[in-house]
Formats: sequence, structure tokens, C-alpha cells
Amino acid sequence: MRGLMMDFPLVVDALVRRARTVFPRREVVSRRDDGALHRTDYGAVADRVDRLVGALQSLGVRRGDRVATFAWNSHRHLELYLAVPGAGAVLHTVNVRLPAEQIAWIVRHAGDRLMFVDRSLVPAIRAALPALPSELQFVVLDDDGRGADAAVPGALDYEALLASSSPAPAVAVDERDAAGLCYTSGTTGEPKGVLYSHRSTVLHAFGCAMIDSLGVSQRATVLPVVPMFHAVSWGLPHASVLTGSKLVLPGSQLGGDALASLIEGEGVTLAAGVPTVWNLVLQSLRRQRRDLSKLRSIVVGGAAAPRALIESWQFEFGVSITHAWGMTETSPVGSCTHPGSTGLPANDVGDIDARCKPGRPVPGLEARILDDDGEDLPWDGVAAGELCVRGPWVAANYFGGAGAEVFTSDGWFRTGDVATIDAEGRIAITDRKKDLIKSRGEWISSQALENAAMAFPGVLEAAACARPDELRDEAPVLFVVPADRAQPPSPRDLVAHLARHFAKWQLPRVEDVRIVDAIPKTGTGKFDKKAMRVALRSSG
Ligand code: ADP
Repeated sequence: MRGLMMDFPLVVDALVRRARTVFPRREVVSRRDDGALHRTDYGAVADRVDRLVGALQSLGVRRGDRVATFAWNSHRHLELYLAVPGAGAVLHTVNVRLPAEQIAWIVRHAGDRLMFVDRSLVPAIRAALPALPSELQFVVLDDDGRGADAAVPGALDYEALLASSSPAPAVAVDERDAAGLCYTSGTTGEPKGVLYSHRSTVLHAFGCAMIDSLGVSQRATVLPVVPMFHAVSWGLPHASVLTGSKLVLPGSQLGGDALASLIEGEGVTLAAGVPTVWNLVLQSLRRQRRDLSKLRSIVVGGAAAPRALIESWQFEFGVSITHAWGMTETSPVGSCTHPGSTGLPANDVGDIDARCKPGRPVPGLEARILDDDGEDLPWDGVAAGELCVRGPWVAANYFGGAGAEVFTSDGWFRTGDVATIDAEGRIAITDRKKDLIKSRGEWISSQALENAAMAFPGVLEAAACARPDELRDEAPVLFVVPADRAQPPSPRDLVAHLARHFAKWQLPRVEDVRIVDAIPKTGTGKFDKKAMRVALRSSG
């Protein structure tokens, strides 16, 4: 017998309808390139979304067409997030930090028809122009309406386009139609396109609103530092529109001081970004104290949140980090650990221990760990295997298809991450399969070495990767950025510190601790292990 409930379509337009009618005066604040703040609200955003749907249609955009954005987090990008799926098209968020040839590769692979580009990012697009399809139509997003055509030949100006377009209603779509497209940044290989559906987008937004997930709510003021071109800004824009949280968008200014002043000035309660960002904000706050009394939680994910980072925020500023794990393929929120999830106070060492792991799968997502033969491993917090997940916002394939190897025969997505799960369902990521260091047949976790090194005084950042070694197959090399260049930490003392946490065979040699000015980062701000290994090979 079938249930007798409405088959209510889960489509992005439903989020817009809700924001327009229920939270029309809730604020959306974005930072302009000149540093000034632009203030609008959901009611005005929804009206502009209607116009944008009309504009897209007048430019010939039809159901299923891909429309690219090349932009920082701003109210205009938010409008595109809502209007492109509203027009029945697919929003392709292109990572602005990629090299020109990868941008061109992705745009061609996606088959984009139209590209919306921030004025400040025009130089990057001009560099990619020779390799981009000549028929690609550009629209420039500009705070000050300077001539778009002069920026990119033939380009339209976004504001002029909106002003000259009539509002149009959202196109009726099936909830299983594609709404978004995001390529993985290719940290471990070729970029792969993850094609989100309306249904997965809306369910993920509901997921992000759960208190045991990101906890986005109408009482929150949300600052997504994680870019809207990276893994849908962790679902925060959609979840904010759904719940009516105030949204604070940082634009192109992502330095520690700029973010700290935004947190204080706008009364941010919930902020989210990769660990390197929160390190920068921490440095800024140490130079200049700010009123952080409203800031209830920082969600750190995208890479392991080092213990030193969690402790510094907790003990120096009384702000508790929520540690999250996810991937572009999981929309991306997959698991998280909130302060107090242990029943202990957030400043208790037991609670900090728990928050060094990204924790339980968020409600809606299921996880398991498999050994090399595809057998399930026990959830004992010790056995480590490949983390596999499934759920309504997990990719079932890649755009253009990617082969069966990323899925188990019974349909679970293989993450490529190595993890343990304990008896309470808490996931701990040990490493990425490709980043593990194999020494005499045993694995060394590069992530564990990094985290231990970053807890040593005077170390700002540390990243480990493998170098070939005749005796050990592979040996760890540790790149270290000192907090103070004038007084770098001593490699010998650092290795002695590591020796307290690791077996002797797992340690880098003293000469393999390399003090550097900077560690190469990927387009998403993570340590670029691929580039590190290439640099090692070329330096011998
Ligand atoms: P890319 O593959 O381009 O790096 P993603 O942004 O999708 O793209 O990265 C997902 C990966 O980031 C995960 O597979 C995992 O390796 C890493 N990651 C994300 N969150 C965490 C975390 N909390 N701890 C450790 N690793 C993490």
C-alpha cells in the first residue's frame, strides 16, 4: 500500500519562495572589493532572482544548459545560485584559484554556455581566454558598473542586464534534474564533475540546518568563508536561504584582519572555512583583540583541524571549533563533531580529544570502512580502512562518467580517505590513501605527523609527504613554515618532540625537516601534496 502524502518537489525555487515570503527583511551583507559593505535582504534578492531568470531566458539559456560562475562570495553570486537552477539550468561554480589551463579544461568539459565573472577576477579569465571556447558569453559582476565590454570583449554588465530584463517565474523542473555542477579540485588527480540534483541540494540544505550538522538557523548570522566556488560553500548559502539566517559574504578579502573585523562588526555567530583560514584569523586576533562574544561556533573542515588550532581558539578566545569532514562528492557535509558532544564541557581535554576527529556521520549519511579486499572492518577505533559512504546527497556518478572504481559493487561511494570508526560511530580520518607514506611495508600517516609538528612551539604550518628511500621504500619529509622567520624552530628539537608521539621508524630524519617560507597550497587552500612531491623530485 502506498502512503497518501504529497509528492512535494524538492527544488531550489522552493527555498526562494520561502525566503521571499517568510524572511523578506532578513539581511544579506556582502563586502565589496573596496572594503565597503553592501546591504540587502532576502526580499530584494528574491526580486532580483526573478529578473535574473528572465535575463537568462533572454540570453537563450534552456533547461539543462550549464552556466558558469567565476566569483567570490557575494550577493550577486547568491542570486546566481538561486536563479540558474530557477531557469532550469545547471550552476557550474568554477574554482577561481585554478591555473588557466585547468579552468579552460573544466569549462570545456562542462560545456558551459555562459560565464558570470567578478570584475576583480577578469585578469584570470583573460589569461584563460585563448583556451576557452570562442562562443562562451561573459557577464561581468561589477560593484561600480565600469564598462564590461572593455574588460572582456563582448561581455555584458550584470547590473545593466538585470535592469533591462523582465521578471520571469521559475521553470518547472523535476527534483531529480541537475541543479549544480562542481569539479573536485584535483588534489589527487584529474578534476571530476559532481552533478548535484535539486533534490540533493534541498535535502542537503535541510541537513545543514540540523543542530547536529552545521546548525544553520534563523537565529544564526552565518559567515561562509569557504568559497561559493568550492563544494557549494559547504551548503551554507542554501541552508541560510532555507532557514532565514542572516548571511555575511566576505567577497574577495579573505585576510585574517578583514575576516576578524567582519565577525565583530556583523555579529557573526557561525563561521566556516578550512584550517589555514582560521590560523590567519587567529594571528590577527593575537595582534588586535576583538569582541567575539556573539561567535558561537567555527566549523573547520576540508582538511584536518589540527589540535593546536582547536586548543588555541578554545583557550585563548573561548571559541569552540566544530570539526567537520566532507567532500565535493558528499555535497559536501559528511560528518562533524560539535563541542559538548561528549557530555563534557568544551574546554575539557576529553571534549577536545573528541573534536580532533570529524566524528559521527551527519543524520542522513551512512558510513563504513573496508579493507583492501572490500571486507568490512570493525568499528573499534583501531582498524583503519577506506571510508565509504552513502546517502541522499552523495554522488552516484560523475559528470561524463568516471568508471566503477569509485563505487563498491553494492553502490557505496569510496572516498579515498583512510579512516577508523569507533564503537560510538566517530570517524577519524587517518590520511588520504594517496598521501600515506609507506615505510618498510608499514603506513605512516602524513596527517598525524603534520598535526604533531604544528603543536610544536614556533611552527606556523607543517606538511608531510613521502620521498623515495632506498632502505625504507618511502621516508617522510616535513616542510615547516616558522611562525617567526627570524627564529625558526630547530629541526633537531622538532624531531625530538615528534619522537614522543611516533615510533622511531615513522620519524623524519633531521635533514628531512625543511624550513620553508611557504607550503604550496591547492586551489582550495589545502596543502598541495602533489606539488610537494614534484618539488622534492626536482630538488633531489
Ligand atoms: P579535493 O579532492 O579537490 O581536495 P574536496 O574539497 O572535495 O576536494 O576534498 C575532500 C577531501 O578533503 C576529503 O576526501 C579528505 O581527504 C579531506 N578532508 C576534508 N575534511 C577533512 C577532515 N576534517 N579531516 C581530514 N581530511 C579532510
